Amino acid sequence: MSDAIAVLNAGSSSLKFSLFLLRGRELELESRGQVEGLYTNPRFTAKDAAGQLKEEKSWGQGVELGHAGAIDHLVAFLRTSLQGDRLVGVGHRVVHGGLDFSGPVRIDGQVLHALEQFVPLAPLHQPHNLSSIRLLLERLPQLPQVACFDTSFHRSNPELAQMFALPAKLHEAGVRRYGFHGLSYEYIASVLPEVDARAASGRTVVLHLGNGASMCALQGGRSMASTMGFTAVDGLPMGTRCGAIDPGVILFLMDQRGMNARDIETMVYKQSGLLGVSGISSDMRALLASDEPRAGTAIDLYVYRIGRELGSLAAALGGLDAIVFTAGIGENAGAIRERVCAAAQWLGVELDAAANTRSGPRISTAGSRVSAWVLPTNEELMIARHARDLIAA
Ligand code: ADP
Repeated sequence: MSDAIAVLNAGSSSLKFSLFLLRGRELELESRGQVEGLYTNPRFTAKDAAGQLKEEKSWGQGVELGHAGAIDHLVAFLRTSLQGDRLVGVGHRVVHGGLDFSGPVRIDGQVLHALEQFVPLAPLHQPHNLSSIRLLLERLPQLPQVACFDTSFHRSNPELAQMFALPAKLHEAGVRRYGFHGLSYEYIASVLPEVDARAASGRTVVLHLGNGASMCALQGGRSMASTMGFTAVDGLPMGTRCGAIDPGVILFLMDQRGMNARDIETMVYKQSGLLGVSGISSDMRALLASDEPRAGTAIDLYVYRIGRELGSLAAALGGLDAIVFTAGIGENAGAIRERVCAAAQWLGVELDAAANTRSGPRISTAGSRVSAWVLPTNEELMIARHARDLIAA
């Protein structure tokens, strides 16, 4: 009989979960999966640690299972799946911890109330993150729950790195650069000491290149700056998000094209990035496989913008010792890594092409002044570790 920790990541239309068993202090993945299409065509799939299907269920087209129905199904699945094992806590991915939460926190009514205050800062994600917490509090009030934030890892950023050059009272009101993907960066920072002492203690830029994409400058494993700002639409072009644009573009769209905030939100979050530029797909695999010139342009722009941000983050660090690629594109797209490393030659990155084809972990030559690495991220494990530590405390 073991203790178990569940990790939940609730989005607008899906609820993802992972279940870990505690073996001493070690966390062993037992299963993972999701309920997707919560309001359109709900489907549940769960796979074991080896990726073998454990359970699946479809509710049918047009059924609205909702977050409540998904939580109920998941609780029932966990009960049967755990058999003799005991669920001792749940860790939640919560996008925004505002200025107050610089680390994970045990949830109670007061904390939940504080987290509700950050809904305006992340209206697309925070309400769903909190609704799964609230639902579990109702159904299993005795079960310890922990919130882990995408923002907290960046609370170590110097004040200047957090500032916009807007009227000062807005900064005080919380309009500042927060940064996201913090759980991914925290995980990478946690494994760096086992990988390379210089990358762990020195100036390292981590490139989290997934559907969402950002980069983070680490100094001795602490975040000093990142490409995402007030929201997760800033910085690099992503699958469907535009990344940094001149705010004048927004004013132009409002004044000259009659677009309102919702129209612009849809454009910058869902119709831009790789999808918008290529007009073909948000999926890097599809773009790499395409002969269409527009697919090539989208990839060119993606790599160009990464190269520029790398220069900017290296400047924020006052130099560069290592770069680390992670997430779907970073871990799997050797062609993108090759092009990013070529654009970073001037900074001292020298790619080892054969190592890059093998996906590393080290993909720079032995003589490269700046080392380059491919390291798989594991945000769920990071959340489970935090939940374990706070529940035991
Ligand atoms: P999310 O941010 O949703 O967690 P992922 O980290 O899974 O996303 O990254 C998804 C991206 O990774 C997609 O653009 C996908 O095309 C890309 N990707 C996954 N595998 C490969 C591969 N073998 N080659 C190129 N791109 C890949």
